[in-house]
Order: sequence, then C-alpha cells, then structure tokens
Amino acid sequence: MRYGGNTCCVELRCGEQTLVLDAGTGVRALGVALERAGTVNISLLISHTHMDHIQGFPFFAPAYHLKKTLTVYEPPGLSLPIQEALRKQTEPYYFPVPLEDLPAHLEFRSTGDALTIGGADISRLDLNHPGGCSGYRIEYEKKVLVYLTDHEPYRRLFGDTDYSRAKDAEVRDFMRNADLVLRDAQYTVDEYDTRRGWGHGTFDDAAEDTKLAEVKRMMVFHHDPDHSDDFLDACAASVQKRYKLDASRFFLGCEGAEIEV
Ligand SMILES: [Zn+2]
Ligand SMILES: [Zn+2]
Repeated sequence: MRYGGNTCCVELRCGEQTLVLDAGTGVRALGVALERAGTVNISLLISHTHMDHIQGFPFFAPAYHLKKTLTVYEPPGLSLPIQEALRKQTEPYYFPVPLEDLPAHLEFRSTGDALTIGGADISRLDLNHPGGCSGYRIEYEKKVLVYLTDHEPYRRLFGDTDYSRAKDAEVRDFMRNADLVLRDAQYTVDEYDTRRGWGHGTFDDAAEDTKLAEVKRMMVFHHDPDHSDDFLDACAASVQKRYKLDASRFFLGCEGAEIEV
C-alpha cells in the first residue's frame, strides 16, 4: 500500500531524453503521465522478457498514438528476443491488439554492449538470472545511474569459488562509484535458502555491494509481493544498522518516488 504493487518500470530523464527502464505493470501509469506531458520520443531499455518486466507494454498509452516514436532496445543473450516476446503477449488469446497494429512508430534496435541515446552513454552487463538478463550503467553529464535488477549474486548460487569471486567482482565494478544504483533485493537471507536459483538477491547482498563498490546511493526494489510495507521497513532498518549505512544511502524504492541524481 505504501511501497507499491506494480512491477518494474522506471522513468529516467536525461535532459530532453526520456528513457524507460522495463515495461512492467508500472508502465501503464507512466504512459498516461507521458501523454499528458506531450512526450514524443521514448526509448525503452528492457532488462529481459520475464512477464513482470514486459506485461505493461500493451497498456502503454503512447503506443496508441500515431505521432509517437517508441524505440525498443534489444539486448543480446536472451533466450527469446524482446520483439518476439512483445509480439507473443499480444497474440489474440492474450490481447485484442496485435503488436504490428499499434499506431505509434515502433522501432527495434540492438543495444550491443554499449550505446548512446540522446547524450546518455550506456553500457550493458550480463546478469545471473534464469533465461538471461541485462544490467545497464547509464552516464549523463558526469552522473551515473546503474539499473541492476533480477540478479542472483554468483557467490550465493555457486558458493565461494574463483569463478563466483571473479563474476561478483565484475558486477561490483559495473556499479562502482555510481551516484545511484537501482538494485533488486527481493529476499532476506533466511528466505533465500528456499529460493536458490530463482535469480534474485538479498538485502544483505545489496548492502554489502553498496560498501564494496562505493555506491553513493542504493535504492532497492523489485520487492517480494508477499512482503508487507512494515516488513520491508524492518528489513531496511536491519540492514542499515548492521552495515552502518544511513537511510539516505540505502533505502527502499517506492512507487512514484522522484530522485534527482
Ligand atoms: Zn526475471
Ligand atoms: Zn523480475
């Protein structure tokens, strides 16, 4: 009720450029706001094709507007390309309007491992998630935001091995010194035991990485739908205390929150 029940969708404004990170159910309300603001060009960076990251797309108002251009960026390495996944979820038994009938000008482009969108320099990293997932490091006017959700730390899944140490170091380097990291922390350490291999991390992983990667501000989100607001508050308070992170450095993502980087 306080932190919000929609699935992943973040609007990122870099000057005049509007980037949308993931199109979970939150993209419906964002579409209404973008229509109201008269935004014409919208770029969508999608992390992966799991339902909670694309299912809002058929309800995204700008897609129904002839004068709008939507550029959807396609990261490599997914078991199903995003264009295909968006098309499938508008097949007639799921949705009445096929993807190709949407009035907006819809373009699909590859992200590669690095790209520039409207002055924002973006690099991409493969994350540890079933079916593949991409994290994005976005730099604009010397400020860095890292979007890193649906990632299971390698050390959690594979234990303390040379491989997991090297891969976790790579992820930390990707986050290093970022002004703001948006990071998945779906579970507590206790809950994780029965959710191993599900592709998500814990509050403790996010807190530890905040310190080791010298992240300036860490916002954790992709909240578990079974966690109440009070439970989330308790998780954040526990981590802040144990890792000596103050509430302005480590905090919970909240629907509708606006953060200046
Ligand atoms: Zn996922
Ligand atoms: Zn997810």
